[in-house]
Amino acid sequence: MSTTTATAPGPAPLTPDICVIGAGAAGLSLATAAAAFGVPVVLVEHGRMGGSHLNAGSISARALGAAGARALAVREAGRFGISAGGPQVNDVQVNYLQVHDHVQRVIAAIAPNDSAERLGALGVPVIRSEARFISRSTVMAGNQAIKARRFVIATGSRPSAPPLPGLDAVPFLTSESVFSLTRRPERLLVLGAGSTGVELAQAMARLGSTVSIVETGGLLRHADPEAALILRRALLRDGITLHEQARVLRAETVKGGVRLVLAGPDGGTDHKLDGTHLLVATGRAPNIEALDLELGGIASDAGGVIVDKGLRTGNRRVFAIGDCASGAGGGLHSTHAAHDQAGHVLRSALFRLPVRTHATAIPHVTYCHPELASVGLSEAEARKRSAAITILRWPYAENDRAQAEHETDGFVKLVADRRGRVLGVSIVGAGASELIAPWCMAVRKGLTVQDMAALALPYPTFSEASKRAAMSFYAPLAAKPGIRWLIGILRRFG
Ligand SMILES: Cc1cc2nc3c(=O)[nH]c(=O)nc-3n(C[C@H](O)[C@H](O)[C@H](O)COP(=O)(O)OP(=O)(O)OC[C@H]3O[C@@H](n4cnc5c(N)ncnc54)[C@H](O)[C@@H]3O)c2cc1C
Repeated sequence: MSTTTATAPGPAPLTPDICVIGAGAAGLSLATAAAAFGVPVVLVEHGRMGGSHLNAGSISARALGAAGARALAVREAGRFGISAGGPQVNDVQVNYLQVHDHVQRVIAAIAPNDSAERLGALGVPVIRSEARFISRSTVMAGNQAIKARRFVIATGSRPSAPPLPGLDAVPFLTSESVFSLTRRPERLLVLGAGSTGVELAQAMARLGSTVSIVETGGLLRHADPEAALILRRALLRDGITLHEQARVLRAETVKGGVRLVLAGPDGGTDHKLDGTHLLVATGRAPNIEALDLELGGIASDAGGVIVDKGLRTGNRRVFAIGDCASGAGGGLHSTHAAHDQAGHVLRSALFRLPVRTHATAIPHVTYCHPELASVGLSEAEARKRSAAITILRWPYAENDRAQAEHETDGFVKLVADRRGRVLGVSIVGAGASELIAPWCMAVRKGLTVQDMAALALPYPTFSEASKRAAMSFYAPLAAKPGIRWLIGILRRFG
């Protein structure tokens, strides 16, 4: 809780309909949409506008990944009969300072959309201060009291470090600070093989760093295991060293960098991994400490502000969305989930409609090469619910466009119920993040694989792999004697 100090009386309290705390993906989405409906909104932000998605998240990671992909494309151009350097990492010249500048230019190009000036022009005043509750109905932002009809907490999250002995004494990078590097890390140790760790590791490897990933569990442990296997092969091809199921004993500073000490197999000699840089990508913690939640009558746990399925906190006038939300309606850490939740809360706040979030219809994407994308239930989750499920697959190697582009690693995998209703989809391969879009609709709307199989899709596209996976639902049907008999009978009528 903050300590109370005597201050001069502040301005008269603001009384907007909605006060949004945090100008990241979630808060901006809600504030701009509310303003579009003419609803009085106030936005409070104590740091940079745009939050982590703009300043140190999706955008920066995509821009860095795009640079890595270009470096690889140059190296692999020989497969297309185009000569540019050679196939080795060092055959391509990477000017890392210019890579850094490219990432910053991308951020700068997008920043005006998230700026206080734009919000002001839309009629949303932005208060540049830290927000904290002083009662169930009042938030203080600096010396400005805000008494809103509804509050929306959208304070996001920040990188967190594991309790690893020695880590607090060594310099390390996080998913926020890594984008500020102006020189390429020569030997990069990445602790954590979730989406963030893997994406950044691959981008850096393609830009010429020697990269080792250290993970206490398995690579992308929440992904479809078959898809993770394909990605594992790709990372090894990128020259990345993988240490999975590792027991990390401690971190140490050594001359020229940092060392991770891993327990040797079966109690054998410890394994020492030295790097010039260490990137810790082991998870995130919610930004809730400064909010004085208890004064607002709002409960929290280690995951953040506890919300119900309707994204409401224990205080009925307060919602929480985005990375800072935990509990039944929270725990979804992505920009698109934040946007989705903002839409739900707006409908509830403006029209008093009940909120029905569809967490299973929110896709998950890992932006590696090949990309991994999924929506709905995984095969394992679906099997836990029912034995009567159908798994349908189509490999990228059987897709003409994939052959033309030398992108034959991957597959589309569908999980359907007995009648063909789509329960879940996992795609690994080029463009998976785009291919997942129609399947998000299928899962959300309860469509069937037959619906997808009936679509006429352009040829030759990667999307056809989705259609072919769906069409394979009919393969057992085509072999059924009854169906063949019917076809034979109908043939007799000319
Ligand atoms: C490296 C990386 C790559 C990622 N890539 C993707 C991706 O490709 N696709 C995707 O969908 N997601 C991605 N994510 C996740 C995505 O960035 C986050 O889920 C999303 O930005 C969360 O938005 P938010 O609005 O909840 O929080 P944030 O963007 O963190 O915004 C919260 C804001 O609240 C402010 N704030 C905090 N406390 C207070 C306070 N007390 N008073 C006032 N203001 C406060 C903060 O300063 C911040 O601006 C990535 C994340 C990382 C780290």
